[in-house]
Amino acid sequence: MALHAEAQRIAAEFEFTDTDVNSNVAEFIAQMKEGLEKNATTMSQIPTYVTAVPNGTEKGLYLAVDLGGTNFRVCSIDLKGESKFKLISSKVAIPKELMVAKTAKELFAFLAKQIELFLQEHHNDHFETHIRRRQTVSTPEGYRDEHIFNLGFTFSFPVHQIGINRGTLIRWTKGFDIPEAIGQDVCALLQKEIDLLRLPVKVAALVNDTVGTLMARSYTSPGKTGTLLGAIFGTGTNGAYVEKLSKITKPMEGDYDKTTGEMVVNTEWGSFDNGMKVLPNTIYDEQLDKDSVNPGIQMFEKRVSGMFLGEILRIILVSLLKSPTISLFGDDDSASNDWHSTSEIKKSSPLFTQWGVDSSILSDAELDNTEELGVLRQHISRVFGVISPSLEDAQAVKTIAHAIAKRSARLAAVALGAIVLETDRLAPVVSSHPGPKSTSDILDDVAKFKIADAASATANKLADTAGLTVNDDEIVDIGVDGSLVEHYPGFKDYIREGLRAIEGIGATGERKIRIGIAQDGSGVGAALIALVAAKMAKPTDYLGDLRRAAALAEDIKA
Ligand code: ADP
Ligand code: MG
Repeated sequence: MALHAEAQRIAAEFEFTDTDVNSNVAEFIAQMKEGLEKNATTMSQIPTYVTAVPNGTEKGLYLAVDLGGTNFRVCSIDLKGESKFKLISSKVAIPKELMVAKTAKELFAFLAKQIELFLQEHHNDHFETHIRRRQTVSTPEGYRDEHIFNLGFTFSFPVHQIGINRGTLIRWTKGFDIPEAIGQDVCALLQKEIDLLRLPVKVAALVNDTVGTLMARSYTSPGKTGTLLGAIFGTGTNGAYVEKLSKITKPMEGDYDKTTGEMVVNTEWGSFDNGMKVLPNTIYDEQLDKDSVNPGIQMFEKRVSGMFLGEILRIILVSLLKSPTISLFGDDDSASNDWHSTSEIKKSSPLFTQWGVDSSILSDAELDNTEELGVLRQHISRVFGVISPSLEDAQAVKTIAHAIAKRSARLAAVALGAIVLETDRLAPVVSSHPGPKSTSDILDDVAKFKIADAASATANKLADTAGLTVNDDEIVDIGVDGSLVEHYPGFKDYIREGLRAIEGIGATGERKIRIGIAQDGSGVGAALIALVAAKMAKPTDYLGDLRRAAALAEDIKA
């Protein structure tokens, strides 16, 4: 019983109330604004030089690579227009030793090698001759061939972008630490290794995964309205959104197209409130931060993303194991264990190793809703190295894991909601049934339904009764990507619940917000940005030269 009570007490520490949500939104908006006006602010609000989002008509064959935090993906994307594409991809886990390599070269040579392997495997027939011809020339500019691949490089770490394919690394996050790379142009680092392998590939665009997600969602999402925001909830968390140029008042160095009046801004919201003015805090959060490679930095991310949720759970479980009054993973005798055994934790348990627990256990805990928690207990056994975990053990894990994940999703709602409000995307409410109670009043009543899943359905039903339907052009579209939001059961529902709690959004606004997974976001998005970059390329480029040479030959013939 003591364990049960203690788990409940800890879970309560992770409660993030509606009031908390609103105070965080206010601060988030303030920090967003500050980042648009000045350099060196908590939220970097990095201009990306991407000034338009696609509409689904774009076409062409592109390469894309994605250095996430856990995996490296290589893909080729054939954009077919009409919002359709064909994607071939391969994925490898990034070797841990390369994340903390002595030199940048070690990591980037590995990346270039994966591109070579991918081309050999998937595009050999078509490109073999071109690869051979490229072998004789050292730079892609010197290599004149229509069939050179333009590559979009998704690099999901903070960079100071100075052009569409130029950007210097500001700092590493997500456990990477290669000091030598800081300040270097990551596109040049990759191009150099590609050139050493003589591949027919040009690094055409530097893409943050959030921007890629935004572009991909905008290309594939139904309806006329472009996507507002691309958000990642994977190893890390971050978002990029479409901002009015007039609001980006800090100096920008690069060239860009001013005609759209907009630019995509990469918020780097992982570092929201590093000063800890409003973010929730527990002793477990504090310990995680203290033992991390970057204490005091990425404080929002450390409460939200996949890299950290498993670690928070691990820290809590270890503190319970140390407690003399609580018995976790250890029964006094077999009578107190419904599997008639005594539970025991192995000395080699990953619980005793920092970062030893993957966040997917939180999803496993959420998924098992049976009385016996049999499946979860098997996971606990396998993942934590615990022999015969008891029902009470599993219940405690489930309670705590749920609280950690729910707080994460409600914090995610803070970021999404703040951006919707700051960009003023919610049109004023039109009441279609004037009467004693306005539609918005009815909907605000609806907002008071607190149960996560039921609320949305009930809200929709009541809103429909009130005659309020959302028009296509009122929809605010948000694309999301990352294993946490894709696989944690109910993550999106808790985000939606959080959105309804936000003043200025409420149930009325929440109905207008559409959140969809950006399928293959990083690949398709990077391809789209490579396409934009290729279009922007100066006529002195190889393609232009080739065409002019061909035209000249025609002239001479005539
Ligand atoms: P990346 O960030 O490299 O692009 P992902 O989007 O796949 O990669 O995110 C990987 C992160 O998601 C890891 O931190 C992992 O712990 C977490 N994760 C993977 N599967 C799940 C799951 N089922 N539930 C919750 N978190 C998960
Ligand atoms: Mg990713």
